[in-house]
Amino acid sequence: MRPARALIDLAALRHNYRLARELGGRKALAVVKADAYGHGAVRCAQALEAEADGFGVACIEEALELREAGIRAPILLLEGFFEADELALIDAHHLWFVVQAEWQIDAIERARPTKPFTIWLKLDSGMHRLGLVAADYRASLQRLQAMPQVREVVAMTHFARADELDCERTTEQQALFHQVCDELQLPTSLGNSPALLGWPATQGEWARPGLMLYGATPFAGPHPVADRLRPVMTVESKVIGVRELPPGEPIGYGARFVTARPSRIGVVAMGYADGYPQFAPNGTPVAIDGQRGELVGRVSMDMLTIDLTDHPTAGLGSKVELWGRRVPVSELALHSEGSAYQLLCGLKRVPRSYV
Ligand code: PLP
Repeated sequence: MRPARALIDLAALRHNYRLARELGGRKALAVVKADAYGHGAVRCAQALEAEADGFGVACIEEALELREAGIRAPILLLEGFFEADELALIDAHHLWFVVQAEWQIDAIERARPTKPFTIWLKLDSGMHRLGLVAADYRASLQRLQAMPQVREVVAMTHFARADELDCERTTEQQALFHQVCDELQLPTSLGNSPALLGWPATQGEWARPGLMLYGATPFAGPHPVADRLRPVMTVESKVIGVRELPPGEPIGYGARFVTARPSRIGVVAMGYADGYPQFAPNGTPVAIDGQRGELVGRVSMDMLTIDLTDHPTAGLGSKVELWGRRVPVSELALHSEGSAYQLLCGLKRVPRSYV
């Protein structure tokens, strides 16, 4: 079998969830959308179910996958519903959902659920993506609260730039949220991972950690709290070929690397079709049999090349970590001008095993 694989450390996932709850204060909704950021939503939700206060997913398909796997905890649809007829399924499967626009409130008014809904009413406090604007928020809330179809409302907002620790935008968004919501006496939810880790003053009743659950920092540099996270996914493969080359020889497509000395080049079964960044530059870190080493040459669809010259004991069959414990996924993201979110969600073809 091709040696590429992703090891998922469920104990690390639980550790990170506990940290999120410790930082968030009260309850934490574990965000497991996009197949738990590539880690496997069902396995992750099962690993967390005994302690998680609930789960967040993007859409009803993701929620149903969890319900079908036997997850009974609350599940919130973070983008709400896309069509009014989803409300029947939401009712049947006891899902919570975000309301972010007037048309959804009209649809709720027309619905006849068997039990009243739990709704998270989203305020657009500055992200300018989804959510009700401040001027409409209270009136929409009053409408919802007057409906027999509605049992509970949680006030929520989402931060646009909490990963930038010196950016005032987060404080401004938080101030607007409090200005609109403080008198409403609703449970509140503000913090995503960067806010939980970097902006302790932004917390509400419900934290909504995603990225941090998977042990990746949203920040560009070291951070005292983010450094307590434990990476959950380790992507590794093996050296499947070795070339001995004199100085001046190009490696791979486009000759993006030319040997400057007598070199040993290892070929690793991992490529951009697996989700490894195609344009990761020469010098991008990898770990070779546990020691840090470097990528050289352009990444191909199914293979990439590494410099084994300074790793004399490494050779055919050596284990190569692409990201994980020794090469944090956020570090790889910095090298490849991507993001940890994109790398984790973008893993493809690589079988996962759970430890
Ligand atoms: N809350 C909402 C509404 C989201 O859309 C997301 C993810 O995009 C999260 C929370 C989790 O964010 P993060 O992965 O940054 O913790």
